[in-house]
Amino acid sequence: MRVGIFGGTFSPPHKGHVNAASCFKKEFDLDALLIVPASVPPNKEGTEILPGKHRAEMCKLAFAGIPGCEVSEIELKRGGTSYTYLTLTELSAPDRELYLLMGSDMFLTLGSWRRPDEILRLATIVAAGRVNDREIGEQMERTRKRLLSEYGGDIRFLDNPVVEVSSTFLREKIGAGEDVSLWLDDDVRNYIEKENLYHV
Ligand code: ATP
Repeated sequence: MRVGIFGGTFSPPHKGHVNAASCFKKEFDLDALLIVPASVPPNKEGTEILPGKHRAEMCKLAFAGIPGCEVSEIELKRGGTSYTYLTLTELSAPDRELYLLMGSDMFLTLGSWRRPDEILRLATIVAAGRVNDREIGEQMERTRKRLLSEYGGDIRFLDNPVVEVSSTFLREKIGAGEDVSLWLDDDVRNYIEKENLYHV
């Protein structure tokens, strides 16, 4: 069984996330795809993060259109700082091949995550483009070579249609009362409105 994993803060989940996930599922012919909202992402320790309950609910709405995709609360249940190697360890099984999706920004930092050796041993890494930028493409190629020579494993680049948007940008726009319909699913926007999230 080929299982895809896509972790993140998802505050809120946007069309950049959904398009990358959908492309990932098709390109790698995945049987299942798990969206994993982090409890406390290591790179966001000490910052204020929306409660996991809201982020998980928004993920259910945002990714509902991808068949075979479900939201896993594995990291929210574990609590504390969410380390990917622990999640992969929990999800790995003899009959499963794991594929881990991440955007180019996260991929470029993978060498400094906790236990990159375990991450590369347990999963095929799939890096998606977030911006159309040749310099970043070259950095990704160098990072791939360096990680493979240090840890071995398998690293692929996803040929996804790039959607240049971030959750930070959207939180700011929502806070300022601006239109975000271009980047957010209608159900996610309605949820944000109903729960009065991100308003300052
Ligand atoms: P923030 O602005 O709050 O840091 P973000 O938009 O980067 O949020 P995250 O939830 O932190 O979103 O990202 C989860 C994963 O999705 C990461 O691997 C990130 O690289 C990837 N990702 C985020 N935005 C995009 C995008 N537009 N296209 C492809 N991948 C993306």
